[in-house]
Amino acid sequence: MAEETKKEERSLNFLEEIIEEDLKNGKYKSIVTRFPPEPNGYLHMGHATSICLNFGLAQKYGGYTNLRFDDTNPVTEETEYVESIKEDIKWLGFQWENEHYASDYFDELYQFAVSLIKKGLAYVDDLTAEEIAEMKGTPTEPGKDSPYRNRKVEENLDLFERMKKGDFPDGTHTLRAKIDMAHTNMLMRDPLLYRIKHASHHQTGDKWCIYPMYDFAHGQSDSIENVTHSICTMEFVPHRELYDWLIEKLEIYPSHQYEFARRNLSYTVMSKRKLLQLVNEKYVDGWDDPRMPTISGMRRRGYTPESIRDFCDRVGIAKRENLTDLGLLEFCVREHLNKVALRRMVVFDPLKVVLTNYNEQPGETEMLTSENNPEEETATHRDIPFGKELYIEREDFMENPPKKFFRLAPGKMVRLKSAYIIRCDEVIKDANGHITELHCSYIPESQSGNDTSGISVKGTLHWVSLKHAITAELRLYDRLFKVEDPSKEEGDFKEYINPGSLQTIKAVYAEPALKNAKFDERYQFLRKGYFTLDKDSSTSGMIFNRTVTLKDSWKAGDSKAN
Ligand code: ATP
Ligand code: MG
Repeated sequence: MAEETKKEERSLNFLEEIIEEDLKNGKYKSIVTRFPPEPNGYLHMGHATSICLNFGLAQKYGGYTNLRFDDTNPVTEETEYVESIKEDIKWLGFQWENEHYASDYFDELYQFAVSLIKKGLAYVDDLTAEEIAEMKGTPTEPGKDSPYRNRKVEENLDLFERMKKGDFPDGTHTLRAKIDMAHTNMLMRDPLLYRIKHASHHQTGDKWCIYPMYDFAHGQSDSIENVTHSICTMEFVPHRELYDWLIEKLEIYPSHQYEFARRNLSYTVMSKRKLLQLVNEKYVDGWDDPRMPTISGMRRRGYTPESIRDFCDRVGIAKRENLTDLGLLEFCVREHLNKVALRRMVVFDPLKVVLTNYNEQPGETEMLTSENNPEEETATHRDIPFGKELYIEREDFMENPPKKFFRLAPGKMVRLKSAYIIRCDEVIKDANGHITELHCSYIPESQSGNDTSGISVKGTLHWVSLKHAITAELRLYDRLFKVEDPSKEEGDFKEYINPGSLQTIKAVYAEPALKNAKFDERYQFLRKGYFTLDKDSSTSGMIFNRTVTLKDSWKAGDSKAN
């Protein structure tokens, strides 16, 4: 409830203001947005921002969102990416109204181009890409007209058709809009609309050997789909003039483009091109490596869709680029996991405890019970076996403790979580003076939930029964890069990779309830952090990823935060 109030109180962002105004004055009856990924990589946290924004606005204002694959470049796109993108959007909790491909519109786009030619607003150019670039001018000097600029409509129609039929090799001809070679906006200096590329396309196969440029496909696709608010990132501001020009000249549905700043996250990189390098050069274990800022990586790491949506909502949108603190994302993850994670006890670095006064009957196990999650509205419980021999965390014992050490020490008492109070009576060492086990006594009247001992202790430790413990491997992750903004550093961004970003613990000792761990469950290993089962787990061995630590213990300059 408190949270809802908070959300309602948030002031409108600039897009919400625009949309409310448009709906109020009747410009649109309802809104249509789209999410337009290029299927040339896996989605990352920046895309998550765009997804939450586009789908979120449509949900809020009773419209819908299309998923449109911007597949106008035949060379880099792959079906694997298309599938992963769909999976990621659904996982984030959104459903698109229609699934489209820009390539679905190749016929219509071709007709649009023909109509521009007929209006004398487009021409076929024989200049090479280099020549076109040379003649483009500079921001302060006008460009030069191509010698082919004033071709007759008939000749242009004929050449354009022959481009389509495959009469010409790559790079020999282009179709250009005829606007103004002296325009103050360089993008309006007769921009390219089509280029020849003899390449197979993942959707259209070999049907086409000419492909529309981004600027000639994007706005036109928006228009075909009756998109009302076409939201993109700031680098497209200079493209808006061309976007509007094309829609106006083609006399098609007036979609409008709006821009917001790209989302960047600290201690990572967020461009598919860079992430692809990390994958190809094996710095990480694939696109879904839990250290990657990809949606699939975050899913594998144990982040929840709720926490990612919450993060996007809290950060909001801006017009100026900024670097968002990874710590805020981790905060959102902790907040949600605290509500949903099942509590389990796992000892990372075991020290054996023998309860000398505990009588174990052969074949019998004392079963204790503990809440799965104290945050649950209706409590559920699990059983935890107790025994004469236990493991506690080695760091929870000190032979010569400082004053404020409330854990176990000779002669001192602690509570074992959901079990009994124990006292350390004797420290057993090997010949080298290394502590091998502790002999303790337990207080039978001190059972949690039924404690009549009258003893109060300050420390509570997690533990497991030695006989019942199961082992698992842990993967502890840290930030992928050592510096806040690797893309801004000198030299190759890969030089700034954090060499300690993955730490593996081969065997930890877990309470047996974890034997039934499921991929979609989240766990809090008490006092240790949040964990989730990794997909590399097999029946012969369980592997858990640390999603996030319990507290933010990271300081700049650290390479390991545990
Ligand atoms: P990249 O540089 O990583 O390849 P892109 O912008 O080329 O990113 P697209 O697949 O073309 O990726 O983007 C799909 C949508 O996601 C676009 O509307 C784009 O503006 C948006 N988007 C991509 N990256 C970010 C980001 N870092 N922050 C916000 N929105 C983003
Ligand atoms: Mg792109």
